[in-house]
Amino acid sequence: MDDDQQFANGLVKQLFELGLMGIEVPEELGGAGGSFFDAVLAIEAISTVDPAVAVLVDVHNTLVNNALRRWATEEQKKLWLPRLAVDTVGAYALSEAGSGSDAFALQTRAEAVAGGFRLNGRKLWISNAREAGLFIVFATLDPSAGYKGITAFLVEKGTAGFTVGRKEDKLGIRASSTCELVFDGCEVPEANVLGEPGKGYMIAIETLNEGRIGIGAQMLGLAEGAWGHAARYSKERRQFGKAIGEFQAVQFTLAQMATEIEAVKLMVYNAARLKDAGQPYVREAAMTKLFASQVAERVASQCVEVFGGNGFVRDYPAEKYYRDAKVGKIYEGTSNMQLMTIAKSSGQ
Ligand SMILES: Cc1cc2nc3c(=O)[nH]c(=O)nc-3n(C[C@H](O)[C@H](O)[C@H](O)COP(=O)(O)OP(=O)(O)OC[C@H]3O[C@@H](n4cnc5c(N)ncnc54)[C@H](O)[C@@H]3O)c2cc1C
Repeated sequence: MDDDQQFANGLVKQLFELGLMGIEVPEELGGAGGSFFDAVLAIEAISTVDPAVAVLVDVHNTLVNNALRRWATEEQKKLWLPRLAVDTVGAYALSEAGSGSDAFALQTRAEAVAGGFRLNGRKLWISNAREAGLFIVFATLDPSAGYKGITAFLVEKGTAGFTVGRKEDKLGIRASSTCELVFDGCEVPEANVLGEPGKGYMIAIETLNEGRIGIGAQMLGLAEGAWGHAARYSKERRQFGKAIGEFQAVQFTLAQMATEIEAVKLMVYNAARLKDAGQPYVREAAMTKLFASQVAERVASQCVEVFGGNGFVRDYPAEKYYRDAKVGKIYEGTSNMQLMTIAKSSGQ
């Protein structure tokens, strides 16, 4: 899937069948009625094998489903959550070419027209874009109002004036589709505004705050997967007449990796627990994503080294974990953005 830059046929359908696409959607709306913690466990588990699949599950559950659960009207929930739980992939479109870290500098325009709004502009880096049937799109009603103009819209695939553009050729998580979105006079009915006009910034902030714990879980699973391969390989590979895992240097490398993974696990689970308990969690979520992505990169890098030359080639899984780890420091807020949140919450 990494080479082909796409998910295997039928894989997304299986994710739905397994109930992994409606983890927190209430049972009466066709979901699993689970907790945020359950979603985090699913993302972690899938990431041990393929973080590219996990990002689809992560964006769908922690950003799209959660934004709808929190902000949608009863009618919107009844219309969309059953579909999102059963057969419709969601995507979350905030970033643009000129607005990444400075997300609220977005330029996509929404103009009020009879019965709804007309969208014009472009989004960049949108995960799940190829597979998605529903997109949460952030656009501004009034650029001069700054973040107070930002409004979230529910845009269905196939809406006139909306096209999914070029797919990025990426370093890692290559099976996951990351595409440009183009809005050219795309009209959406008033009923498709998510939350209130001008309150899109609150939706973005809230969903990304909890989404970060999901990325922490992705990086945790990635590190666990890489560690497992390194540990197994260390028992199989023989040099100097013994398994390389019999050398204390290799044992200590694995021990250090395991310790860092354990620390990340506690951070991810603690942040998810706080979120489910309705306790403040923004600082913990930022710390979790920051540290989890650092540990994932370090562990994946050590995994490559434990594999030696075999770590550097595509015949073995080590190099893929290493490539996949990098994005953890970039999306849903770069490491610097997490540090800013942590500094602010520390009174700095
Ligand atoms: C694979 C992938 C999938 C993605 N999926 C989605 C998606 O589904 N939906 C979506 O909306 N977006 C998505 N994104 C976009 C992602 O959220 C942005 O790439 C990210 O927020 C960084 O923005 P940028 O790329 O514009 O980098 P920039 O904001 O240009 O940052 C470049 C560098 O400058 C630093 N920097 C910027 N401002 C400051 C500052 N004030 N202080 C210190 N350092 C600073 C950053 O930390 C970074 O190191 C995805 C990106 C990737 C790569």
